[in-house]
Amino acid sequence: MIIPIRCFSCGAVIAHKWEEFQQLKAAGVEVADALDQVGMKRYCCRRMYVGHIDLIYETAPFSTSIQ
Ligand SMILES: [Zn+2]
Repeated sequence: MIIPIRCFSCGAVIAHKWEEFQQLKAAGVEVADALDQVGMKRYCCRRMYVGHIDLIYETAPFSTSIQ
C-alpha cells in the first residue's frame, strides 16, 4: 500500500525519505546507493524500502468514496 511511517523492527521514522528515494531511483541511481544517500543505514530500515511495493494507486479505485 503506502510506505509505513516507522520501521517495523527498530521503530525509526522512515516515511519522510520515501519521495527522495523514489526520485533517486527514477534518476537511475542503484538502490543500494540511493539508500545510502537518503541516510538509511540499518538493514532493518533498508529492507522496508527494498521490499515495499507501492500499490496505493492500484487499490484506490476500489476503495469506498466519500460522496
Ligand atoms: Zn529499522
